[in-house]
Amino acid sequence: MGRKNRAPKASSRQASSLGNAHFRADGAPKTKYSSEREAASAAHMRWVEDKVELNVYPCEFCGGWHMGRPSRSG
Ligand SMILES: [Zn+2]
Repeated sequence: MGRKNRAPKASSRQASSLGNAHFRADGAPKTKYSSEREAASAAHMRWVEDKVELNVYPCEFCGGWHMGRPSRSG
């Protein structure tokens, strides 16, 4: 018996959850900010100009910061 036990599930870990934080819904990467301060400043500009409320969060995918919409149903 020389059958080897390969693990087919190994490739489907982490990528999706991290990718969700890094990529937009259309597949393009989000704008990366190098610090929380930069991201917060950009989010504030969006609020001032467009009245769009955005959260900022650290991204484990690229190590930077991104803006995103608050998770709110409605
Ligand atoms: Zn990222």
